[in-house]
Amino acid sequence: MLIIGIGLFVNLSPQPVVQQSQTILNIVILTVTAYTIVYYRFVAPRWSTAELILSSILVYTVFVFLVAHFTGSLQSVLFSLVFVPILITALMLGVQALLIVVAGEVIWLVTEFYFYFLPFHPGISDPHILLWEKLIAILLVSFVAYDNSREIFTRQSEHELLEQEKETIRLLQEREDAILQSMDDMVLSLDTNKNILIANDSFAKTLDISQNEIIGKNYDSLFTIKKTNSVGDAIETIDLTTITTKEVEDNDSKETGPTNFRLQTLNNDKQLFVTLAISNLTVDLKDKETPNDMVAPGRVIVLRDITEELQLERMKIDFVSMAAHELRTPITAIRGYLSALKEEATTSLTPEHNKFLDRADIAANQLTTLMENLLSVSRIEKGAFNLDVRKTDWVHLIGQRVEELANRAIERGLQLNWEPPKENIPEVLVDPLRVSEVFNNILSNAINYTQKGSITISVKYEPAEEIVVTSISDTGPGIPREALNHLFEKFFRVSGVLEQGSKGTGLGLYISKEIIELHKGKIWVESTFGEGTTFSFSVSTIHNLKLRKQFEQENAFRV
Ligand code: ADP
Repeated sequence: MLIIGIGLFVNLSPQPVVQQSQTILNIVILTVTAYTIVYYRFVAPRWSTAELILSSILVYTVFVFLVAHFTGSLQSVLFSLVFVPILITALMLGVQALLIVVAGEVIWLVTEFYFYFLPFHPGISDPHILLWEKLIAILLVSFVAYDNSREIFTRQSEHELLEQEKETIRLLQEREDAILQSMDDMVLSLDTNKNILIANDSFAKTLDISQNEIIGKNYDSLFTIKKTNSVGDAIETIDLTTITTKEVEDNDSKETGPTNFRLQTLNNDKQLFVTLAISNLTVDLKDKETPNDMVAPGRVIVLRDITEELQLERMKIDFVSMAAHELRTPITAIRGYLSALKEEATTSLTPEHNKFLDRADIAANQLTTLMENLLSVSRIEKGAFNLDVRKTDWVHLIGQRVEELANRAIERGLQLNWEPPKENIPEVLVDPLRVSEVFNNILSNAINYTQKGSITISVKYEPAEEIVVTSISDTGPGIPREALNHLFEKFFRVSGVLEQGSKGTGLGLYISKEIIELHKGKIWVESTFGEGTTFSFSVSTIHNLKLRKQFEQENAFRV
């Protein structure tokens, strides 16, 4: 605006003094125009406020003085003094004060002109034109001062805003950093080349070195992460940059028991059991007008130290196992004495005392089952549930087990249907003792939970898969649909009528499932609530050579 105004004034003014200097004034205007363009487009964004104030005052002051000089206003020696108060007022006090000062300056100039200038320069032909020129120059100076200060104020407020934003960002960063640093979990971020981008304090403490020493290093040089089996033996080293979340979560395999991860530090030789949470680094560039999210090559890994938890868990399992083991002997003794008493003293006892004796016997039996179950669970959890697999005549084995439990079914008024299959059933690969446990448990459940009706046992050979499927169906109350998925979980019992009436532990089916899975077989249940339940499980025949080899390798197979 200012430059355009001055340009028009210089080129259209009828003043001879202006016309005389038109060329030089146009050069000055063009130079300042070029400067202004460069200044606003390229320099201003990078300069500090102080630099801007100085440079703009300098350039525009020179500009105004040149214009004033060539228009003749500098013939008054005091004119230059006018510029300074105007500029200072504009910078310090704003537009209103500037107007007052400019008015004052105009009065002062007019007075100075008549009382100082004219008396000393009587020969000047057209003094009033000179006065007008001075007044125009004053207005010009005021405008420059106003424009300058406006620019500087805008610049200053932008600068303050920027500083505030910087401060907010700094505080946010500090807060985020504090959260990261105060996390108990170990957090680190890696690029695809295994280099560590970020590591938090907890991680640095585990390694006993400072965060700065960790960042930028290849993680292979600092630690390894190994998959371990249930007893803590390393199975394989994993690559944190390629392992998928699914692989981390699917860490329970039947072959090796529950899997954990072990962090092994290389500099201070620490070993920690950890859980892993892995996520890919994603940067949302939507704000930056890119069409898709960009997946930055890298990962964030959170490691939680569960060493103590695992130790506690192991201590718990060891305690249960030891307690169950120690209780076995006295319970066996109690059962022995009870059975001796029943044999010898039945006739000498009153019927009521005999009833007490029966109840004591039942309770002792239940206690034995509980102890055995607890021992089995602790063995399963320790990964120490070993099989002694043999070639077994399955139909014969099932026949024996049915015979053992037939009396209980009859006592409860249930019909027990068992017919050996007519077809030839090949021998199977099982640990007879363990699998009998499974069959007994399922058949006992069927007897216990069925009020009236029958229980049917069937055995079927499926040559395509080389398996034998055994099913036990009852006409009991059935199992509600929502309970079916939880039936094989530890301590799960169907709540309600069933649970109140019987004294189970909820461990039988869990143990059965574990035993069948150790045999590489399957166990499943079908039930219609109110109609009955069928439990089935499969075991492999001796023709399954692959499995036979596997058992041999695991030292579980005896011919
Ligand atoms: P327990 O029998 O000691 O309670 P289990 O693990 O053997 O433990 O069985 C878990 C639950 O499954 C039982 O509590 C019972 O509610 C239900 N259940 C098992 N077998 C049957 C069956 N044949 N009919 C109905 N419910 C059953």
